[in-house]
Amino acid sequence: MTQKIVAANWKMHGSKQSVATLLNELQAGLGSMGESQVILFAPNVFLPMLETTLTGSDLRYGAQTLSEHESGAYTGEISASMLGEFGCQYVLVGHSERRHVFNESNDVIAKKFVQAQTHNLTPMLCVGETLAEREAEQTWAVVQTQLQAVIDVAGIAALANAVIAYEPVWAIGTGKTASPEQAQAVHAQIREFLTTADKNVGKNMTLLYGGSVKADNAAALFAMADIDGALVGGASLKAEQFIEIVKAI
Ligand code: PEP
Repeated sequence: MTQKIVAANWKMHGSKQSVATLLNELQAGLGSMGESQVILFAPNVFLPMLETTLTGSDLRYGAQTLSEHESGAYTGEISASMLGEFGCQYVLVGHSERRHVFNESNDVIAKKFVQAQTHNLTPMLCVGETLAEREAEQTWAVVQTQLQAVIDVAGIAALANAVIAYEPVWAIGTGKTASPEQAQAVHAQIREFLTTADKNVGKNMTLLYGGSVKADNAAALFAMADIDGALVGGASLKAEQFIEIVKAI
């Protein structure tokens, strides 16, 4: 059985006031989530607020990136152990905005993945192709390379303690969602690829879809055999919309 997850990526949005309101609304509106898990990826400065508000609740939270280094002269960076101190259990690794806006390489992303696990954070590894890569029929080659880079450094067994989010870059923040069939096709390839390397890792991997997931398209995506939930950006900033998506899981 794969774990069902709906995760929120707040990106660089929010204020003390709006985060307090959103947390209150989510706590009031989500109710029991049964076997499913909700994870909030917040900007680092709000993590103490999440720690205070969410400790003891069913909601989990984490950061949107971390340093690949343990500690040292890396001005502006945040280490895995620091995130752990503030109650983070998860961290996004390799989000497309980190890959494409901040030029994080597969090599750096693999190091971040290992650094997260070293400090007991579960990495949510994001993979996905650009529009040009999809049009050039390179989708699987790109996704496979992104996965293999992590496997080469961390080892396939390490994937047992990770979550994968397939997020086609062309669908992130654009309002263009991959169709359930397009997303399912890549998810099935990812599961097959992992299963070939390690049967249990493949079978149990939680595979999330991300890219303009909204209340009105979530259920169709979640109905697909290999889509175990979603990583939600824009629609996660409005409690009402995000709660609808969680309910669809
Ligand atoms: C994301 O930030 O990971 C994302 C999928 O964003 P959006 O839902 O806004 O496309």
